[in-house]
Amino acid sequence: MHIEVIPVEGLPLIHQGDDLAEMICRLVAFEDGDILCLASSVYSKAHGHTRLLDEIVPSVDAERIALKTHEDPRFVQAVLDDTTDVILEEPFILSETVTGHVGVRAGLDHSNVEDGMVVRLPPDPMNAAAGLRDALGAVSGKDVRVIITDTCGRSFRRGQAGVAIGWSGMTAIRDFRGDHDLFGHTLEITEEAVVDEVAGFSNFVMGESNNGIPAVVFRNCPQWAGHDDLHFRRDEDIIREALSKN
Ligand code: GDP
Ligand code: MN
Ligand code: MN
Ligand code: MN
Repeated sequence: MHIEVIPVEGLPLIHQGDDLAEMICRLVAFEDGDILCLASSVYSKAHGHTRLLDEIVPSVDAERIALKTHEDPRFVQAVLDDTTDVILEEPFILSETVTGHVGVRAGLDHSNVEDGMVVRLPPDPMNAAAGLRDALGAVSGKDVRVIITDTCGRSFRRGQAGVAIGWSGMTAIRDFRGDHDLFGHTLEITEEAVVDEVAGFSNFVMGESNNGIPAVVFRNCPQWAGHDDLHFRRDEDIIREALSKN
């Protein structure tokens, strides 16, 4: 296995209406089976999933939380608007979004965007990945798999890492259950979150600041089989349950 990791260099600043598939295909000669990782911030900018703080009127709740997080109440309101469940209000808002993704500030981002604007996560990231996959296929004539990524903090460990927000052409999880280890023991619980592993390395190549590399291609990455249940159901999420008891 010899996996190539190719940064997509030369993309301009992205604005609403930009055709990402066209722009990326001008810079990459895709091959069948390539995986394209794209930063969610850039997907959202192209598709207008952004908000202007000036157009947001904060609620009483947003004002209350903003006093604790020391943030602009209008930004807090934008976070609450994208939140289905608040897990922590302070020292930062940790919330679940409509897709089951849990993130700090519901994944809202004000880096790499003009002042006064915030970038939301794509509201339907699985469809976003599928749509981008179709478009890349139409432009390039190749079968390209897609992962839409975001940089996220992690529980228990310092440092942010890239995770998969949406994906298409693969399953989230590589399922090892029923497989045998080197000594013939049957694996009973091992499921590997491959989409997050690939997203994590793409995030390293993208960087967080002014690299200008929101897209990374993985070539010769093998296929895997499994399922898409990346997020715990509420009744199996024991950490979440423990938090709710505090
Ligand atoms: P996020 O992880 O989805 O929040 O995205 P980041 O803000 O961390 O950006 C990831 C990468 O994309 C970094 O290399 C940024 O410099 C780059 N990036 C962000 N916005 C743009 C853009 O509009 N055009 C280009 N060419 N690069 C961008
Ligand atoms: Mn960012
Ligand atoms: Mn982000
Ligand atoms: Mn990032």
